[in-house]
Amino acid sequence: MNKVELAVIGAGPAGLAAAIEAAQLGVKVVVFDENAQPGGQLFKQIHKFFGSREHRAGTRGFRIGQELLAQTEELGVKVNLGSTVFGLDKRNLWVLKEGKTEVYQADAVIVAAGASENALAFPGSTLPGVMTAGAAQTFINLHRVLPGKKVLMVGSGNVGLIVSYQLMQAGAEVVGLVEAAPSIGGYGVHAAKIKRAGVPLFLGHTIAEAIGEHQVESAVLTKLNESFQPIPGSEITLEVDTICIAVGLTPMMELARMAGAELKYVPKLGGHVPVNNDNMETSITGMFVAGDVCGVEEASSAMEEGRLAGVTAAEYLKHIAGKAAADRKALIREQLSAIRNGTFGNKEHLKDKVKEENTLGLRFSGTPSKDELDSCPGVPSEGRLAKGPVAVIECVQEIPCNPCEQVCPKGAIKVGKPITSLPQLTENACNGCASCVTACPGLAIVTVDRTYDENKALVTFPYEYLPLPETGATVHAVNRQGERICYGQVVKVRNNKKADGTVAISLAVPEEYAMEVRSMAKGGTK
Ligand SMILES: Cc1cc2nc3c(=O)[nH]c(=O)nc-3n(C[C@H](O)[C@H](O)[C@H](O)COP(=O)(O)OP(=O)(O)OC[C@H]3O[C@@H](n4cnc5c(N)ncnc54)[C@H](O)[C@@H]3O)c2cc1C
Ligand code: SF4
Ligand code: SF4
Repeated sequence: MNKVELAVIGAGPAGLAAAIEAAQLGVKVVVFDENAQPGGQLFKQIHKFFGSREHRAGTRGFRIGQELLAQTEELGVKVNLGSTVFGLDKRNLWVLKEGKTEVYQADAVIVAAGASENALAFPGSTLPGVMTAGAAQTFINLHRVLPGKKVLMVGSGNVGLIVSYQLMQAGAEVVGLVEAAPSIGGYGVHAAKIKRAGVPLFLGHTIAEAIGEHQVESAVLTKLNESFQPIPGSEITLEVDTICIAVGLTPMMELARMAGAELKYVPKLGGHVPVNNDNMETSITGMFVAGDVCGVEEASSAMEEGRLAGVTAAEYLKHIAGKAAADRKALIREQLSAIRNGTFGNKEHLKDKVKEENTLGLRFSGTPSKDELDSCPGVPSEGRLAKGPVAVIECVQEIPCNPCEQVCPKGAIKVGKPITSLPQLTENACNGCASCVTACPGLAIVTVDRTYDENKALVTFPYEYLPLPETGATVHAVNRQGERICYGQVVKVRNNKKADGTVAISLAVPEEYAMEVRSMAKGGTK
């Protein structure tokens, strides 16, 4: 029997953050993860994350994972990889490593096992070519293998939207994205990215069937009525070789259940979750939870919950006490509630039970509407646009994010508190430098210079596809819907190292399209 002071199950953002916090307070921590690499979901995430500077906003997910790992190493945390915890009885762990079972007795345990992807059954769903979005993401971002060339994505939550974008970056064509609800489930800025790439969104539709002899060759979609029932005769057939399923995640609460922790079914949190209080304590003394295992959310909140669980565990293990512990926890809780403040925050921990509620009241169709843009505090006035280069911030939803505010050298963007407030542009302070264009993880900012030439405007937008266009090339300029509306000439391609792969492209376009052009067609050179 191996003795451990604190065992953390899961080396994702929640588990690593918990281990770091507890180790900083002097706890001896051992982390177990079944994967060969630590970082959980983060190692597949090549996109820049939202959040604040403290959450490493604007940093690509896999880099956040690397940073967390470096911190655990510095603090002497032992990370056991390839170690599957298959048994948990209060604070005793049974671990399978290299075909052998090891037993650990821990003084305290933090379960941070994350969530698993939901499946969807339909005729043909067992054909090769049907896979979860996470599997496709693992193929492209970890193994550098393209699972298919023509993809249908099922589900418009952040996972479906982000993986669609990444599949296109990897070279696939996303033939469509289908969503049963009448509106997009994930962040509007993610949806806007794939709309600009011309991906058709089939809202109020579902997949009826996958067709193919030995593998997927096509997919049949059907429209749904208000009761989510198929409307006969509305079928559409799309030629695809891959169907990705992104229909939600389910907390991996099996170990907590095995240990006897009290559970509660909360649909908005993804299913059964271990009941926990605002210290991340479960109903079992000395057992704590953090991250997606106690309700599917995001890496930023998973890290904060991990930190909270780490402090609580350290307090339980008598490494910190009284006011010092209370102050530390209060600070983390403040950060957590700031992240959850917006339209998308759906997880709230009460003293002794998990609250069930739905704060999602949004109806988003993929691109910001004219009304939304007209009332958006980030969009400059006609008068300011007439004066010269200026930022146009098309961020119209309350998401926890502020890199635009942090990066602006002129202090022209204000998000303030809470962090979910919409960014406001002080238009006369902005000089159109375009630093915010590449810093925004949502790729929601462009600069527009209507004074560029007598009859040409210069639009500078973020771009993350290869190959990059040559300066001087004529390309197809696209609008928010991805429609090729005019030609543009590439005036500048700024590939700044600091922007970590997000390139600013400046395109000279006919003046009348200045407020329409928002990107260029991928590989769309004339
Ligand atoms: C496609 C996609 C895009 C995302 N984009 C963003 C984003 O832009 N911003 C953001 O904030 N969040 C994003 N997220 C969400 C974020 O990745 C998760 O919320 C976060 O990773 C949850 O952290 P976690 O530590 O709870 O779980 P995970 O990251 O899932 O880590 C859990 C770990 O536990 C291990 N484990 C599980 N069971 C066992 C066991 N029995 N024994 C040993 N190890 C075990 C797993 O191997 C895994 O490594 C995204 C998620 C996906 C899928
Ligand atoms: S373009 Fe430059 S000055 Fe204007 S808001 Fe963006 S970062 Fe600030
Ligand atoms: S505009 Fe600002 S708040 Fe909106 S996604 Fe971009 S960086 Fe975040």
